[in-house]
Amino acid sequence: MEVVKTRYVGFCFGVRRAVELCLKEKASAKGTLYTLGPLIHNEQVVERLKALGIIVEEAAERIEEGTVVLRTHGIRKEEELVLRKKGLRILDATCPLVKRVREHAISLRQEGYKVVIVGREDHPEVKSVLSYLDNDAIVLSQYERIRGRRIGLVAQTTEELGKFANIAKRLIEEGYEVRVFNTVCMVTRLRQREAREISKQVDLVLVLGGKASSNTDKLYNVAKNENPCSYKIETKADIEPEWFKGKRKVGLIAGTSTPGEVVEEVARVVKSL
Ligand code: SF4
Repeated sequence: MEVVKTRYVGFCFGVRRAVELCLKEKASAKGTLYTLGPLIHNEQVVERLKALGIIVEEAAERIEEGTVVLRTHGIRKEEELVLRKKGLRILDATCPLVKRVREHAISLRQEGYKVVIVGREDHPEVKSVLSYLDNDAIVLSQYERIRGRRIGLVAQTTEELGKFANIAKRLIEEGYEVRVFNTVCMVTRLRQREAREISKQVDLVLVLGGKASSNTDKLYNVAKNENPCSYKIETKADIEPEWFKGKRKVGLIAGTSTPGEVVEEVARVVKSL
């Protein structure tokens, strides 16, 4: 089987930075090391961190000592207040591009715009941004009418750029005054563009990433739109040989929290089919 990989695979800089920060801290820290929620959306990597003794704690209230690493998606304002009140040592692994969404949203609100976030309300990144706006914002995933005329528009970093642009266009067409910050992260944009191109050129597409990974879901949507023969998998264990009957060329696309070695393992298995 011929395998075509996208140019951009392996961790994005935000995920690499967070994982390296954790590993470095674990190697040197004396006390207990926590992450508040999973550091990234990749189960295999999170399990590896746990195996090193790093504790994944879901509730800030339950952490009483040690060092806390803030996840790449950011934490909620209330959680940050709890950690700071307890005087715990905090290492911030929030991706700078996620922080950018928060900063733009806060400044838009201060300027009197109704903040609208294009994204998923249940995603930790969006929950984090909302909390720093005191929940005074609207989250939507498709165009809808909004009360008020001045809209400040931002996107979850992993949002599909085309969808975000369409919502912005529709709001303008409907007569709203719209201030737009394109906060879709550039890594996501590049991977989505490559996913679109590669999916057209192959017989079958495998999209690799964690089950909870939003950017992997978006890559899968992009691939599926171009090539109905697209499958989302987490590791080589999810590969079903019957998918490949009558196929010759396979495209490999990976989410930003999928380790490079997982992509290589899958490539090896597919080549041998
Ligand atoms: S996908 Fe983009 S926003 Fe998310 S961690 Fe990576 S660089 Fe940061």
